Amino acid sequence: MRVPITGLVGHPGETRALAREVPADEFGDDPWGPAVGRVLDPVVLDLHLDAVVEGILVRGMLGFTVEQPCARCLELQQVDVDADVAELFMDPRRVEDEDELDPGYELVDDLTAVDLTVMVRDALVVDLPLRILCREDCQGLCPTCGADRNQTDCGHGPGDEPDPRWAALADLDLPLE
Ligand SMILES: [Zn+2]
Ligand SMILES: [Zn+2]
Repeated sequence: MRVPITGLVGHPGETRALAREVPADEFGDDPWGPAVGRVLDPVVLDLHLDAVVEGILVRGMLGFTVEQPCARCLELQQVDVDADVAELFMDPRRVEDEDELDPGYELVDDLTAVDLTVMVRDALVVDLPLRILCREDCQGLCPTCGADRNQTDCGHGPGDEPDPRWAALADLDLPLE
């Protein structure tokens, strides 16, 4: 997602607000790493673009809504993720050594734009919770029969194995009479 910065480059001290709600697919087909397919619209940008000598400093807040399965019952939950960002997008003319340029964090389009895709994706991946629960006391799935124990009481205890006698019966060919 490219944002024009005309009038900012070469004017240290200038700043511009960027407050916008953007559809998730504006960041490309597959920018979301482990959250691919689960980032809901919109992605909220509440940013400032500051012109500094070295380039453009992009700082502020990103807001995401991500669908994530409960770690116990696998029910999809909507999780709000807020991420603070402060990233310098380098003006290549200010860099002595090409190696100092961070791919994805440089001025593009002839120094007339910044592409926020990498920054937005990196911010989400860092702040994405690894494990969520739909609620603290979620009962999860029954390890014996797979029932959602929040919905039904299947009668299995926490440590129940499938009953070996029933398993043996299931293998018998009983004569049909
Ligand atoms: Zn759950
Ligand atoms: Zn069960």
